[in-house]
Amino acid sequence: MKNVVVLGATGSIGQSAAKVARDIPHQMRIVGMSAHRNLAKFQELAAQFPDAALCVTGEDAPASIGCRKVLRGEEGLIELATLPEADMVLIAIVGTGGLRPALAAIEAGKDLAIASKEILVMAGEVVMEAARRKGVKILPVDSEHNAIFQCLEGRGAAHVRRLILTASGGPFRKLPAEKLVDVTPAQALKHPTWEMGAKVTLDSATLFNKGLEMIEARWLFDVGMDRIDVVVHPQSVVHSMVEFVDSSVLAQLSHSDMCFPIQYAVTWPQRVPNSLPPLDFAKLARLEFEAPRWDDFPALRLAQRAGTVGGTLPAVLNAANEMAVAAFLNRQIPFPGIWETVAATMDAHRSIAHATLDDIVGADQWARAYALERITA
Ligand code: MG
Repeated sequence: MKNVVVLGATGSIGQSAAKVARDIPHQMRIVGMSAHRNLAKFQELAAQFPDAALCVTGEDAPASIGCRKVLRGEEGLIELATLPEADMVLIAIVGTGGLRPALAAIEAGKDLAIASKEILVMAGEVVMEAARRKGVKILPVDSEHNAIFQCLEGRGAAHVRRLILTASGGPFRKLPAEKLVDVTPAQALKHPTWEMGAKVTLDSATLFNKGLEMIEARWLFDVGMDRIDVVVHPQSVVHSMVEFVDSSVLAQLSHSDMCFPIQYAVTWPQRVPNSLPPLDFAKLARLEFEAPRWDDFPALRLAQRAGTVGGTLPAVLNAANEMAVAAFLNRQIPFPGIWETVAATMDAHRSIAHATLDDIVGADQWARAYALERITA
């Protein structure tokens, strides 16, 4: 039995985590949950998990839900993340809000299941160093990294030639380059295979999602950016692959449902029966693979550069991208303007090597201000 705290319980990952906890109640118990603003959903979840400690980070936090006290703000998140009875903290908060609670959980000796990309993108070096020092496990919940984690089975980087991240290619996989300028927010928010929040869905359309995942993989598995590759796989059935030094490739396959990687992170190293549907290969018909359009979707090369330089540059890429995505959704910049904003902000930044958490937070704030100025200029 694992006692799990879920930070970001009302988002799509958080709701999948609740589903897993109901599906395998003898292996997973939710002992803490946080929400930001979706109080209706949170009350529903609180009723399902009556023993869980609760925290609300948004402004209108109630003092209590039922007769249970509600913790508040970042302090409340840190209290949840360090609950004495917790074995594992699942970080599923979108954005940078999960960073300090994640580090607090590590210091308290909790294993981390990480679904928020920002944590490893911004502070991969700091987080992995802290985890090594405290002897805690970092379990990836992102479907690609969870797939690689399953394929590696503990084998280190010396056995690996390439990590191959699969990408759905997003809704504009086949759109001619000159048409990208006409893409609307509504078109970009339609993902072909996964149901996710708006930010991740848009990042899938620009391929920044895959770029961020390349940087995450670099830290999670301790391989250089030059050994992290991307292949477009529109069906999203192969979640990623590892090519070993002997040219053998292992892949992990399942339906595209986040319950699979969440359950594996929780029950690892065990495999436990559940009610998830198995694959029917006769019905799959075919699995396709193609090269990504590196030149038409510059996000991948920008991420390669950020991951190779390291320091504060990945945090700058991430922050500029968040600002640019918001500006695109507000119709302030065209779709290709997202890439241009990120590239210009990265060009203007001087990266600090072996950055501390304060350096990273500083670079994040600088990049937001710079990108915003450029967007509104
Ligand atoms: Mg992913």
